Amino acid sequence: MSDSKKELYRDNGQTGSLLDQMDTSNKNLESIGVEILPVHTGGTVHAKRIKGTFRTVKWVIAFAWLAFFLAPYLRWDGHQALLFDLGNRQFHIFGLTILPQDIWILALILLFFSLLLAASTAIAGRLWCGYACFQTVWTDVFTWIEEKIEGQPNKRIKLEDAPMSMSKFIMKLKKHTIWGLIGFMTAFSFVAFFTDALDLWVRLFRFEWSSTETIVIVSLGAASYFFAGILREQTCIGFCPYARIQGAMIDTQTILPTYDVDRGEPRGRMKRVKPGEEAPDLGDCIDCNLCVAVCPTGVDIRLGQQFGCITCGICIDACDSVMEKIKKPKGLIRYASLSEFAGEKLPPVYKRPRVIVYAGIMLFAAIGLLYGLMTMSPIDVKALHERSPLYVQMSDGNIQNKWTIKVVNKTNEIMRAEITVQGPEGLTFIADKVITIPSGNVGATTLLVKIPKKNLTQTNTPVVIRVININNPTISDDYKSMFIGPRIK
Ligand code: SF4
Ligand code: SF4
Repeated sequence: MSDSKKELYRDNGQTGSLLDQMDTSNKNLESIGVEILPVHTGGTVHAKRIKGTFRTVKWVIAFAWLAFFLAPYLRWDGHQALLFDLGNRQFHIFGLTILPQDIWILALILLFFSLLLAASTAIAGRLWCGYACFQTVWTDVFTWIEEKIEGQPNKRIKLEDAPMSMSKFIMKLKKHTIWGLIGFMTAFSFVAFFTDALDLWVRLFRFEWSSTETIVIVSLGAASYFFAGILREQTCIGFCPYARIQGAMIDTQTILPTYDVDRGEPRGRMKRVKPGEEAPDLGDCIDCNLCVAVCPTGVDIRLGQQFGCITCGICIDACDSVMEKIKKPKGLIRYASLSEFAGEKLPPVYKRPRVIVYAGIMLFAAIGLLYGLMTMSPIDVKALHERSPLYVQMSDGNIQNKWTIKVVNKTNEIMRAEITVQGPEGLTFIADKVITIPSGNVGATTLLVKIPKKNLTQTNTPVVIRVININNPTISDDYKSMFIGPRIK
């Protein structure tokens, strides 16, 4: 064993001599609970499930996603809290209605999350793929169900090879029925973001779904079943376009699950040596294959970084558990960068140009978003001044201007809006007493304003057109405009 390795163990509070004597022969490994597993040799990947830090993180994120799919059932002020009503071109987000004119807010949200994805990839590789992608999460859920019905990976492999029997048929039927139901629920919840979720259930039992709803639910349900249940990791390896562009976002400072070749090789199991025999100079990898057996994409990380690796960290959990049992330092497989292995010091995240650029754009999007949300009003007023003629001189000495008023109701209720106008003394106006505007719609009316000519001191006189929601007077909007009169000398 090299001096550098002994140093490493001492750094971790262990002694080289103890480790030199560790018997890692098959028999001894079994006695301390380390299984020697066969490597994956093609066909469906049946990954072994083990406990560990990264496994827990994956479950937490999976539960967050599953909870998100319950979001259409949340109610806010008696309405669906999250509703992307494409038919009426309005998005409802917790009482906030986003209409086509506010679409820039959605654009900023998308920009923020795309840059978050790019920044996280630059820092720690395919974090999205490993932990949060629908495909990963759903495959995890589908294989968990498979494990509950068909058993551990070795049993599943045997079952696959066995001829069809009644018990095999029943197990397969159970599994595929549950997978089908999950696929249906996934598609149903997706469509429920675009239409009233409770109404969708009612219409299901009355057979009243529209053809679009039926086509989307059937095709999306089938896609969930096929990609997460049948294709699994092959989707990530063979179909996902994002997997292919991520290479452009990582660099030598990106940390990825990596096998420490220098420490692990030459791999092998150590036997107690007889007196006089020389102990083989082996690395820390005892070649138990657990890291391969747990990998959801069937990758052997010891062969180096590979396209199939979704950086989920499960092999780190696996190897750490083995190292713990054989009393060696954890981290034979760990999140590390190429720079670290080249002996370079990794600069802090905030000093990396790529991360700075991504973070800068994210900050811009976040500030814009915050500004948009803080200044967004549930009512929006536009007043279009009549161009021809700009003003009318009345026989009674008044000057009259005309506007077309447009009021956008961004609340979830029907709005009853009242118009008032403020300006110079003597100002009078004529408008509809109340405009009734359905939720998410635009109401229009004509406004006539008269001001005695003698009260006008300038050609363009400022006036304020105020629109108030009578149902809730705290909701109002002021539109500043100019009252145009004859040229004043
Ligand atoms: S890297 Fe770790 S988990 Fe993988 S075979 Fe070696 S000892 Fe086992
Ligand atoms: S090699 Fe490790 S990090 Fe990569 S996908 Fe397999 S288990 Fe996950």
